[in-house]
Amino acid sequence: MTLRDLPAVHRLLEEPSLRAHAATVGPAAVKAAIAAVLDDARTAVTRGGTVPSAASLAADASERLSLAESDGLLDVLNGTGVLLHTNLGRAPLAAEALAAVERISGGYSNLEFDLEGGTRGSRHARVTALLREATGAEDALVVNNCAAAVLLAIDALAKDGEVIVARGQLVEIGGGMRLPDMVTRTGATLVEVGTTNRVYVADYERALTPRTALLLRSHTSNFRVEGFTADVAPRELAELGKRVGIATFEDLGSGALVDLTPFGLPREATVQESVAAGLDLIAFSGDKLLGGPQAGILVGRTSILARLRSNPFLRAVRVDKAMLAALGATLQLYGRPGGLARIPFYAMLAQTVEALRVRAGAVLAALGAQAPAVRVVESSAFAGGGTLPQAELPSLALALHSHGGTGGALAKRLRTLRPPLVGRAVGDEIWIDLRTILPAQDAALTVALRVALDITAE
Ligand SMILES: *Cc1c(COP(=O)(O)O)cnc(C)c1O
Repeated sequence: MTLRDLPAVHRLLEEPSLRAHAATVGPAAVKAAIAAVLDDARTAVTRGGTVPSAASLAADASERLSLAESDGLLDVLNGTGVLLHTNLGRAPLAAEALAAVERISGGYSNLEFDLEGGTRGSRHARVTALLREATGAEDALVVNNCAAAVLLAIDALAKDGEVIVARGQLVEIGGGMRLPDMVTRTGATLVEVGTTNRVYVADYERALTPRTALLLRSHTSNFRVEGFTADVAPRELAELGKRVGIATFEDLGSGALVDLTPFGLPREATVQESVAAGLDLIAFSGDKLLGGPQAGILVGRTSILARLRSNPFLRAVRVDKAMLAALGATLQLYGRPGGLARIPFYAMLAQTVEALRVRAGAVLAALGAQAPAVRVVESSAFAGGGTLPQAELPSLALALHSHGGTGGALAKRLRTLRPPLVGRAVGDEIWIDLRTILPAQDAALTVALRVALDITAE
């Protein structure tokens, strides 16, 4: 039996189970599912496996389609060029992080068990040590996400007191998360200082009252104020806090642990710099520039974190063991030579346009006769995830013409493929940016393109 014994796509389309699916999800999605199972079968056969029957291939394709129709989570080919795409799950995890999740979540673990003493332990101990090492902070705490970290911090440090924030930092993060609302929700009073574009230390000083509980600084994340601006640097705010005996807290949002400029991105203050500036507490996300799982990470002074640990909210925003395992494994990579390149976000950032061109060439070669329908175009990729809003990275995309239809109509069709292919509509084309397609997904991309081109050629 050889590859040639594999049934053809049109033969499988006639299988009754797949005909039924075609009626609900349309022929394109069915063809994509067939193409995917045939691809798997081809790989298996070339490795010495037997050729599956048409019925069993149809059953596999049908199972894929049922899964897709059941509204579950699907893996997606991200051709948007946005590396940290909140709608597409932000940072893909490193293989080491995935392995840790599998190891820890499939069974029992010493999550809250001290193996030496045989007594109750802390689920945070190991990750706390890694975070102290990575950031230089005295202490650390991990919660569900950065929004939860900010709420917990404000509630623990400033409930019923006054929180001073620069007017230009009163950011709406997205998904309805507005910093001013979060402050007032805890019962604290928001005291705005400065103007939209300028704030000085003297503004904070003038706003101090006996009820002042916290000096808060927020990363503006998704917008920039440019031109005639003045900001109070973390160090100045930390010095003021120390001088007047008020706690200082920075919501750093994306929280980079490494300098981003070697990757062609603008300079972004690292977590270590905020710690070194002397701020009492800093919050950042696990799944933005850190490249790990969803998490809210708090680092800072032991005395300040002790107040957060005794806050009743902490239990409500507690991290799950899978998240802790993934975060621990990701943080370990930061300390290892060559570790950064193991984190998909940084691996995607580091790809040269030349490397992308080689991948584009391989995809076109695999498309064979269909290749002329695809244009290789220079594009721009973006960090995304509420970080570095204006930073563009040179990138490369595959452009498909939507013969007769709009880019939007073609985009919709690509989204019905399994796995769905999400690109950017540019005029009457769809651009699939290669920087955000994981190299391991190039085969799946080729299958998706084959099906998509079949459709547009019809
Ligand atoms: C993204 C962001 C948040 C929210 O982080 P999540 O981990 O998504 O909850 C909070 N603050 C800032 C400044 C951010 O950029």
